[in-house]
Amino acid sequence: MKCAYCSKEIEPGTGIMFVRKSGQIRYYCSNRCYRLDVLHKKKHKEVAIARESAAKASAEAQQSSKA
Ligand SMILES: [Zn+2]
Repeated sequence: MKCAYCSKEIEPGTGIMFVRKSGQIRYYCSNRCYRLDVLHKKKHKEVAIARESAAKASAEAQQSSKA
């Protein structure tokens, strides 16, 4: 089976199985993926976009402070 967050293959006997009250079951390869997906409710793409925009914002701030 694959991790619900990072899509990595999970070795049998490892990882985390998370069962929602609705009965939906999700598997995670590590506690990190579990925390990021369940506790922070962030998807891979959203994290990537957030990092990208943060990097751009800091770069723009540096440029504007120099000019
Ligand atoms: Zn994972």
